[in-house]
Amino acid sequence: MTRQMMKKNQVLSLSLTVGLLLITGCSKNGSGDYPITPVPFTSVKLTDDFWAPRIKKNAEVTIPIAFSYCESTGRVKNFEIAGKLDTGKFQTIYPFDDSDIYKIIEGASYSMQTYPDPKLDAYLDTLIFKIGKAQEPDGYLYTNRTIAEMHGGEGLHEWASKNRWELDSVLSHELYNLGHLYEAAVAHYQATGKRSLLDIALKSADLVNKDFGWDKCRVYPGHQVIEMGLVKLYRVTGEKKYLDLARFFLDVRGPKGEEYNQAHLKPVDQKTAVGHSVRATYMYSGMADIAAIENDETYLTAITSIWEDLVYGKMYLTGGIGATGGNEGFAEPFNLPNMSAYCETCASIGDIFFNHRLFLLHGQSKYYDILEKTLYNSMLSGVSLSGDRFFYPNPLESNGQHNRQAWFGCACCPSNVARFVPAIPGYLYAVTKNELYANLYISNEADVTVGKNRVHISEKAGFPWDGKVSMTIAPENNVTFSLKIRIPGWAMNEATPGTLYKFRNQNDKKVAITVNGDVFKFVPEEGYAVIKRSWTTGDRVNIEFPMPVRLIEAASEVKADEGKMAVQRGPVIYCAEWPDNKDGNVLNLVIDKNAPFTSEFSPSLLNGSVVVKTIGRQAKRSIDGNITLSEDENISLIPYALWNNRGPGQMMVWLPFEKSAAKPTPAPTIAFRSTITASKTTRALSSINDQFEPANSNDHSYPYYHWWPDKDSWQWVQYDFEKPETVSGTKIYWFDDGPDGGCRIPDEWELLYRSGNKWIPVSVKTPYTVSKDKWDSVEFEPIQTKAVRIRVKLNKDFASGIHEWIIE
Ligand SMILES: [Zn+2]
Repeated sequence: MTRQMMKKNQVLSLSLTVGLLLITGCSKNGSGDYPITPVPFTSVKLTDDFWAPRIKKNAEVTIPIAFSYCESTGRVKNFEIAGKLDTGKFQTIYPFDDSDIYKIIEGASYSMQTYPDPKLDAYLDTLIFKIGKAQEPDGYLYTNRTIAEMHGGEGLHEWASKNRWELDSVLSHELYNLGHLYEAAVAHYQATGKRSLLDIALKSADLVNKDFGWDKCRVYPGHQVIEMGLVKLYRVTGEKKYLDLARFFLDVRGPKGEEYNQAHLKPVDQKTAVGHSVRATYMYSGMADIAAIENDETYLTAITSIWEDLVYGKMYLTGGIGATGGNEGFAEPFNLPNMSAYCETCASIGDIFFNHRLFLLHGQSKYYDILEKTLYNSMLSGVSLSGDRFFYPNPLESNGQHNRQAWFGCACCPSNVARFVPAIPGYLYAVTKNELYANLYISNEADVTVGKNRVHISEKAGFPWDGKVSMTIAPENNVTFSLKIRIPGWAMNEATPGTLYKFRNQNDKKVAITVNGDVFKFVPEEGYAVIKRSWTTGDRVNIEFPMPVRLIEAASEVKADEGKMAVQRGPVIYCAEWPDNKDGNVLNLVIDKNAPFTSEFSPSLLNGSVVVKTIGRQAKRSIDGNITLSEDENISLIPYALWNNRGPGQMMVWLPFEKSAAKPTPAPTIAFRSTITASKTTRALSSINDQFEPANSNDHSYPYYHWWPDKDSWQWVQYDFEKPETVSGTKIYWFDDGPDGGCRIPDEWELLYRSGNKWIPVSVKTPYTVSKDKWDSVEFEPIQTKAVRIRVKLNKDFASGIHEWIIE
């Protein structure tokens, strides 16, 4: 884990944009742009009661608390010190902490356009003043180095080196910070008309342009995002040098670097989604920008095959991506464990950026199928209903060890949520000169321009709970264009593009469309019903998307989902969660696959939500190891994105219908009935006696307990029994995530029992062994005691961990 945790800390995030893409249809210097233009969020006012309250909550809760954490953690003070407005050392943990402020400024800039807020506007001015002060005279901006240089170099982060830029392809994150600065600057300029942050950004970009190039510094960005940021600077200024620089940062990458940050090959030669998934999606988005603006087929070919690799084998049903925590990224195809699924919130947002851009290039609905799935499920899971708690990973199964947090040392995810949510209305519509795309169905009032014609749209939609949509079209003058109504894959019996997931049964109910009351017959073109006519004020289009409960199964290659099925209704993926099911048990459920599934709207549950009900049984393991099933019970399912709003506990998306696929309630063994304590207390302690046997020591699909980052020390774990027990044997299964992680099997261990106040080693009859990928068992002279403890000696260079510890 050393390496993985270190990498975790390198994480970053992205930027958004919908607003920006739009800005200029016209490109300078003869280059092109996306053939389809999104309608900016500023032209679309949501009036629904699912998303609009989330955007309001983001403005009222998320953005203010995110700024308050930036203040209280010292992120703001770093700029004050670097700008000589205060004194001291670098205040925070990571050199990329500057980026959080930029991202939240970006989010606040978007948010103010929906919720005008003069106080926030003034606060941004003070932050921008501090950022400007922290910028060095030549444009360099990186508070860690600037502060360290004030102290003779002391305090320079270990990820940075004495010279600027030198370690950026590894860990310094200098260019990463700047990418977010550029995105924030453009957002702030567009929101307020003020050039304050934009001028800082341009001064910085001009320095980067001076320092980097084929005959100058050729370091590639260790964490991508500056590519998108530079494209936005190009769009807002029309200066081609920024576009060229964006392309340089892509073309200079690889081929001899690491897969971890997609530097193993030249980007144009990449065909698969590998490595850190946030870096990956930011890079793919940057490549899409270049493909569109420069009409570059090589980039287009690369991102097309990467998209297929990702969607056909590496995406969770929730839209989450990045299966493994060690690299915060992609695993091999079909390796999609549920409980340990990483699915970083930032990666969901990055994948939305990527799919949005692919749609703008191709006008195909399949990209929106992924975007919509991610939006309603994996991305939305990243933030609580209250707007002040966040998930970093978004697993598809939990034993209660997961719980949203208020903030993180590495705060990429909350700051990404803060800037993404206000821009959601920008994903509803897109236009060409004679087409209007309706891509997401959320009640709204919108003003769009198709060609040169202004058109007002008034829409009422019941999504995601009900599939009825009513659109009223009001062009300024009668005008002919094609209204392209997106027919989601889920409404056409396609669970996802490709064969990774499929519906268990066909749904014969067709999508019904009427125009001014007349049935409109259609055959979908690229996933759209195309209504081409001369539109007149008051024209009405009604659509009904059938939303029965659908059951889904995964391709047989996905071992984690074998013998299981998942539930979807409309775009929403469902899960079983502890408060709704008997005794809080969820992981042990076995669903009756032939039972009916019904749905109903529950106005009081989770701010109003459709729940799904069915029948199932609980599997229990008895002391002799057999698995038994309870009588039939009612099972309730809630939308996955809304889990963990009622406290931590069990949750499961993929529901076993085979007993063999269930995780039975543990047998009432001595270990299971014990109270566990340890030298290091974490939420994972309960994994030690959960009776889930791993496939090997590096199995991340079940929870495990570890001491990382401790090493070279004695640690312990203890069972306190309910009453005195006579025991004579123990066995333990170690966690070891070598060679990549920081845990290895320990150097040695021993078992002690408590006698009075003393801990006494047991008299072993068989020797202690230390093994990887199997149990280490020890028999000893029977003793009667109320508590046992294992002492574990960690290796001098590594931590250790435990999957399971049994006492008999
Ligand atoms: Zn993140």
